[in-house]
Amino acid sequence: MPLCVVGSIALDSVETPTERRDNVLGGSAVFFSYAASFFTSVRLAGVVGDDWPAENTAMLQARGIDTAGLQIVPGGKTFRWRGKYQVNMNDRETLDLQLNVLEHFDPVLPETYRRCKFLFLANGSPVLQAKTLDQCPGASLVVADTMDHYIRTEPDALRNLLKRIDGLVLNDSEARLLTGDDNLVRAGDAVRRMGPKFVVLKKGEHGAFFFSEHELYVLPAYPTARVVDPTGAGDSFAGGMMGYLAEQDRFDAKTLKEAMAYGTLTASFTVEDFSLDRLRRITRDDLDRRLEEYKKMLSF
Ligand code: AMP
Repeated sequence: MPLCVVGSIALDSVETPTERRDNVLGGSAVFFSYAASFFTSVRLAGVVGDDWPAENTAMLQARGIDTAGLQIVPGGKTFRWRGKYQVNMNDRETLDLQLNVLEHFDPVLPETYRRCKFLFLANGSPVLQAKTLDQCPGASLVVADTMDHYIRTEPDALRNLLKRIDGLVLNDSEARLLTGDDNLVRAGDAVRRMGPKFVVLKKGEHGAFFFSEHELYVLPAYPTARVVDPTGAGDSFAGGMMGYLAEQDRFDAKTLKEAMAYGTLTASFTVEDFSLDRLRRITRDDLDRRLEEYKKMLSF
């Protein structure tokens, strides 16, 4: 089943304690699309300026990612994000954020996108996420992501969106910010009671919680010794998870748990290099091999 995603498309600049990269391919929808493309065909919508290198679009298209929903604003500048990681490689600080063309982005989805059964609203303004959702009344699984920036700046629009979606993925600090509760078990449950049927609460190197009305479980992160750049881990997690659900064309409890595992493993590859560099060197077989190792680690 094809999967539709709308979100940020970015040129990122990333500083880690040992290295630095400027203007590399990034953005929530880009990491998501590439990760999901290991499993299913993806329809990507977003906006860029005319500083966006055409080879980035060509590379995504070569992965079978449909870019008909990509708007290019003449004379505009692509969204830019600059972040710096602390020595622990978990905590990061946003040093600069230039919305540029994203500020006036009005998502208008091509007809083929509107018919998608699986829809992911990647990080972006909840007002834009809602506008996207309005165009896909037939979607049967709608999952969204959010982040501290939007929890702070657009809390009402976010609350309204939460009532309309099936699932939300967010990280531990975002769940604490949204609920005011430091205990993650209570915070995850409180987010679920705001509307979504399920909540995936990511805890970086510590893995991810899953909350639904009848289930609570946690999957550990795959332990990788090579953490080069964690940027995009959350989006790749979501891409692996939603990609697998769309591939299976199911989202029952068992399939959701398998999808959480694939999300975990996809993210574990992303952090092993900058931008999409590690994902570009792997195949679905690498994901499946890591899944077998991961299963062995979890059985006792
Ligand atoms: P993650 O590491 O998965 O949380 O996502 C990192 C990506 O989010 C980077 O590639 C950024 O370009 C993108 N990003 C950062 N800030 C924002 C924002 N305010 N809205 C949308 N995307 C963002």
